[in-house]
Amino acid sequence: MLVVMHHTATDDDVRAVIETIEGMGYEARPIPGKQRTAVGLIGNDGKVDSGRLESLAGVLQVIHVSQPYKQVSREWKSEPTVIELANGTRIGDREVVLMAGPCSVESEAQILDIAHRLKAAGATVLRGGAFKPRTSPYAFQGLGVEGLKLLAKAREETGLAIVTEALETETLDVVAEYADIIQIGARNMQNFPLLRRAGKTGKPVLIKRGLAATIKELLLSAEYVLAEGNPNVILCERGVRGFDDQTRNLLDLTAIPVVQSLSHLPIIADPSHGTGVRSKVIPMARAAVAAGADGLIVEVHPNPDRALSDGAQSLWPDQFEEMVHQIGAIADAIGRAAAAPLVTR
Ligand code: PEP
Ligand code: MN
Repeated sequence: MLVVMHHTATDDDVRAVIETIEGMGYEARPIPGKQRTAVGLIGNDGKVDSGRLESLAGVLQVIHVSQPYKQVSREWKSEPTVIELANGTRIGDREVVLMAGPCSVESEAQILDIAHRLKAAGATVLRGGAFKPRTSPYAFQGLGVEGLKLLAKAREETGLAIVTEALETETLDVVAEYADIIQIGARNMQNFPLLRRAGKTGKPVLIKRGLAATIKELLLSAEYVLAEGNPNVILCERGVRGFDDQTRNLLDLTAIPVVQSLSHLPIIADPSHGTGVRSKVIPMARAAVAAGADGLIVEVHPNPDRALSDGAQSLWPDQFEEMVHQIGAIADAIGRAAAAPLVTR
């Protein structure tokens, strides 16, 4: 439930609302807005009697949030959420953000080389897994903490922000120490203890849609993070299981406008995992931007033929450059723009 305050409401009026909600045994969460303040009521699973709140001074309206994902919904917050990173990247604003990098961090030379090239091409966030969820236990599992240190070195040299996956609760805190954005992978989208733990860090969290998850389930996973008091969630469409084996997954671009109508959270697309096929990545990146994605996360490797994971879907660096040019034109056409490269800032 949401208690919307009149624009003339005083701080005392807001305080009285908070105290009343707490007195009813629920949690109150003030939501300051550009136009007016609202106070969210959480902790209820069903309908709450709003009579007591409606009669308080300064209360304009009490809204019963109909969706099960409450704080994530547009009913709760109509203005889009914009997440600002330390290097100035703003996710969810007008500019389309480019996150790129290898599937896995493999060596110092690999990550530093690609980071410099990606920065020059216009990316502002570097991706790279240090803890990797691999289908086979015999496949490369990532460099672990050593990989995080290499990412930090790449950030130091380039200014790129870092997004990297937290695979388990045991190592989430160390990932949070190094990452600017904590990635929760598709396979962990409904790992609720992991989501809660990520929420507690207060850091931006990128949640990738599960392989067979509905949009509602994705939004409820985001709710776990917001329920911990962390509003900094970015959603990611990365393809769901389809029946056609021409591509690895079925990139559900409809999820972009659907999420944007249901939620205020930013949503980006991953055309790399979404297709699994290098030659299909750029067309689907273009389509994702045209569909309104707030950003892209793309796998790029200095030499995809030698990649330790996901080489078949990784772009060559010059393909990434080409993609950025094309994205810029599409972003312009829909009243947006590709995020300005760090080099020109
Ligand atoms: C990744 O980003 O490398 C990854 C493993 O993604 P997903 O969780 O979407 O499969
Ligand atoms: Mn990958």
